[in-house]
Amino acid sequence: MLIRKPQFCTLCNKDLKFKYKPDKSWNIAGYLCSDCHMKMTREFVIKQKEEEEKINKKQNQCFICNDFIDPEKKKKPRWQWAMENDIYLCEKCYNQKELAYQTKINFCVNCGKKIGFIRYNPKPKWKIDGQLCRKCWDAINVAQS
Ligand SMILES: [Zn+2]
Ligand SMILES: [Zn+2]
Ligand SMILES: [Zn+2]
Repeated sequence: MLIRKPQFCTLCNKDLKFKYKPDKSWNIAGYLCSDCHMKMTREFVIKQKEEEEKINKKQNQCFICNDFIDPEKKKKPRWQWAMENDIYLCEKCYNQKELAYQTKINFCVNCGKKIGFIRYNPKPKWKIDGQLCRKCWDAINVAQS
């Protein structure tokens, strides 16, 4: 006499009349009932779609203003800006970032004067983001010590 070994759905524990094999990528052991299998398939498709949209967005939209970018005008941010490296910027945002960056490296953050060849980096404890001219560096150094 053949006795059927009872099998249960891994997710809801329902006795399985019809068993469905879960997809490998779901990381589920055993078998599923049709309801759970359907539910998982739907969730998986939604998740996959979301992932695709995220990638699509990164590839086609500006990271800063979310505008769609003409593929020929896509710009990668400079590494100095410390942004994510798989994103793109539109021309406008790129130029704005570039301007802010150039300002930051070429002008004193304290008085706005253009800095010459020699740069003065603020001491870490001053918590100043940018560079200083000689005069401001000295003044802050005196004030802080
Ligand atoms: Zn189930
Ligand atoms: Zn933009
Ligand atoms: Zn200055």
